[in-house]
Amino acid sequence: MGKPEYVERAENFRVHLCKNDLSMAGAVTCVKGDRSLRPSDPGQEHKDFYVRVVDRNSDGIVVRGAKAHITGAAYYNEILVIPCRNMTEADRDYAVSFAIPPNTKGVIQVPHPMHYRQGKGEFPVELPFRGHTDCLIIFDDVFVPWDRVFMCGEWQYAMTLVYNFAYLHRHTAASYHIPPYEAMVGMAQAIAEYNGIEKVGHVREKITDMIIYVNTLKSLARASCMDYVEHEGIPIPNPVITNIAKYYYANNFHSCSKALVDICGGLLSTAPTYKDWTNPEIGGLLQKYLIGKAGTSSEERLRMLQLIRNTLGVENDVRTLHAEGSLAAQRMTIYAESVKNLKEYKTLAKKYAGIEKPKDKDFVLFNH
Ligand SMILES: Cc1cc2nc3c(=O)[nH]c(=O)nc-3n(C[C@H](O)[C@H](O)[C@H](O)COP(=O)(O)OP(=O)(O)OC[C@H]3O[C@@H](n4cnc5c(N)ncnc54)[C@H](O)[C@@H]3O)c2cc1C
Repeated sequence: MGKPEYVERAENFRVHLCKNDLSMAGAVTCVKGDRSLRPSDPGQEHKDFYVRVVDRNSDGIVVRGAKAHITGAAYYNEILVIPCRNMTEADRDYAVSFAIPPNTKGVIQVPHPMHYRQGKGEFPVELPFRGHTDCLIIFDDVFVPWDRVFMCGEWQYAMTLVYNFAYLHRHTAASYHIPPYEAMVGMAQAIAEYNGIEKVGHVREKITDMIIYVNTLKSLARASCMDYVEHEGIPIPNPVITNIAKYYYANNFHSCSKALVDICGGLLSTAPTYKDWTNPEIGGLLQKYLIGKAGTSSEERLRMLQLIRNTLGVENDVRTLHAEGSLAAQRMTIYAESVKNLKEYKTLAKKYAGIEKPKDKDFVLFNH
């Protein structure tokens, strides 16, 4: 941006985080209002759907607006705010980036309750019941000192900031989803065995699809690191492959959960509670009637179904699809990052079509 003070402030902030071992929420997604309109569009119901600068003086700036779904913001040490989209000159006031502690005056957080507690009727399973709360953060005329401001009005660079965040963030998404998806394949295999259907053709097909799913994701996540690019000397996971990895798992997750639900059968939804299971009058009967394959345990089967119930559900569906950006956001990035390749592909096609004169090596490839 041609402003060395921003670099100095960002570096000071980074050192502050490292030195004090602080955690930081990334506040990117604005509440946005009408999605088809720009932040400054007069058609918006009001001006504050995207975080913006409403005042400034020699000490700092005053910001107003709201960010949605910000993971962990209520209990992290710092909130880093960046724009969530490209900006035009008219959106200048919305091109703002800063960092503040969550208890700064004027910051109002409305956290979404977590549903990761063990219910009284649920079978106790080992998977830790932990998760984050995601917060609506309202910036109600919050003062930010200049030494915590990293962008203020440079609308031309808003998109660069968003992209640089997404390059890394989508890669972490593609990586951290691998272990739970591997566990999902394990759940499918285990419940198939409890139900006695592990050798049935359509069940094997479904489990094979899940194996293909998780291994494709692993391969893409790994390939994005191996085929990294450099930005100003900083290695960045390959943006095209990273976005394909995120897109691939989000776009196909629901087929996997459908397969898992199919293999489970209706007991996934209607299983007796743990309270019934431990009831001395009926517990024994449940043990007898809810066994699947001979030699397996009904308690193990019910525990596995409990784990699957904890794993699937609307919160997981939404997280998979929307966290780290919607499907359309990935497709947009994949196309934008492929413009250079598209030119090369076109040149190749023109050579093959005889429109441009081919080099020898292209001929070899073509004939081969
Ligand atoms: C569990 C969870 C945790 C999250 N954590 C964070 C976090 O820590 N920090 C953070 O900043 N964000 C976070 N997010 C936000 C996440 O990045 C957004 O949910 C995502 O970018 C989609 O934005 P949205 O929710 O506003 O949905 P919308 O943008 O309303 O998307 C709904 C649909 O509208 C489409 N759409 C929207 N605008 C346009 C347009 N202009 N043109 C064409 N199509 C459009 C989308 O592609 C999508 O299909 C989190 C989300 C979830 C679910």
